[in-house]
Amino acid sequence: MKVYNSLTRTKENLVTENNTVKMYSCGPTVYYFPHIGNMRAYIFMDLLRKTLKYCGFKIEGVINITDVGHLVSDANEGEDKMELAAKREKKDPKQIAEFYTECFFKDCKKLNIELPEHVAKATDNINEMIEFIKVLEQKGFTYIIDDGVYFDIQKFPAYGALSGADLSKVGVNRIDENPQKHHPFDFVLWKFVPKEHIMKWNSPWGEGCPGWHIECSAMGRKYLGNSIDIHTGGIDHKPIHHENEIAQNDAYEGRQVVKNWMHTEFLQVDGGKMSKSLGNLYTLDQLNEKGFSPLDFRYMNLLTHYRKSLNFTFDSLESSKQALNTLRQLISLHKNGTNDISNEIIENYKNEFTQAISDDLNIPLAVGILWKMLKTEKKSKEVYKLALDFDRVFSLNLDEEIQQIIPEEIINIANERKKARDEKNWEKSDKLRNLILEKGFLIKDTKEGFEIVKK
Ligand code: AMP
Ligand code: ZN
Repeated sequence: MKVYNSLTRTKENLVTENNTVKMYSCGPTVYYFPHIGNMRAYIFMDLLRKTLKYCGFKIEGVINITDVGHLVSDANEGEDKMELAAKREKKDPKQIAEFYTECFFKDCKKLNIELPEHVAKATDNINEMIEFIKVLEQKGFTYIIDDGVYFDIQKFPAYGALSGADLSKVGVNRIDENPQKHHPFDFVLWKFVPKEHIMKWNSPWGEGCPGWHIECSAMGRKYLGNSIDIHTGGIDHKPIHHENEIAQNDAYEGRQVVKNWMHTEFLQVDGGKMSKSLGNLYTLDQLNEKGFSPLDFRYMNLLTHYRKSLNFTFDSLESSKQALNTLRQLISLHKNGTNDISNEIIENYKNEFTQAISDDLNIPLAVGILWKMLKTEKKSKEVYKLALDFDRVFSLNLDEEIQQIIPEEIINIANERKKARDEKNWEKSDKLRNLILEKGFLIKDTKEGFEIVKK
């Protein structure tokens, strides 16, 4: 198995102890609904886990849930996201975190994303973070200024290796940062917070809350120990969050803790950034309202390699939806096929598939191999079985009956039409039938009520 290591910028052979991959994935900050960009990062995590399992590895995995409100920018400045959300929704931060954590789990389930063996909440691990900071303090890597305990990057000469940052070029503090900092890249380990702050804990340095970066280092160490095989996260985490995690881990241990860093490129919408202000920040539920299932979206993700940015458009989602339907149709034809196929042919496909996925997760190529097999081979049960075997990685429910997703809006109109019919209001019922037709669906009346199909 080869994986691209962002730290060495090369594809490397994955070397593990006892055939077990210790894997840490940066998880969500739970103060808002996850969007489809976030979910791309977790689809990648899932594909990686399933590829490793397919290739015979065992996995000890961790994902964190950031339910301590870290601050608005990655550099730990500004207002606390969780407390902002609490104000916005008139709830307390704990309720906010619980609600959005559930939303995240639900989205994972809809996308067939398997949660790692350990799901670690930051609020359950504050003591571990304090203990971690104490060690860094004893080893001389910290200093205290008026708003918190900081990591002193000048004591850690390897700082910047992951992103290739040139530290000497940065001379001044950013405006919103504490001017007492010794170096602009120094980051907070323990932040003193104002009295009115709700989320705060006691510590040897005074009341406050942990910095965001220490969360992952402390929980990674707690669950996986002092050697981690793979650490994943979105590409945005590479220059700050992961650089800081490396500094904390390696300063603590006196040697490299994480061997391989793997980063997912971003999902973009219509070629640009996704943002609330542009109105193009979609959730899975919003895709569903437009008639697309979560697995249509998952299929779309399989077509672009994780190290390339994925351009989301509704046209390409529509193509994915149709392609997934066709795949399922082809598979059901093979399921009922009666031809015999040689073991050799089947083995060849399996080898091709394994080679593709174990080459730094070339999932797009693996999908191509599935198509080639389904289209070129005679209809046979062996092909059907192998397609389902591939689906252990793809997780597209390929065996599912061909489904038609009917948007909620159409179902609502159909219900309204049924009411009109029950009231013998034929004019209204005809109008609603035409409306459904205009929106691309046909409605048939049945004994039980109605049936809707796509035109
Ligand atoms: P957050 O909750 O903001 O910490 O983000 C959760 C995960 O989603 C992180 O691993 C981010 O790197 C990732 N992420 C955020 N936006 C996108 C995007 N547009 N495309 C892909 N991954 C993203
Ligand atoms: Zn992290």
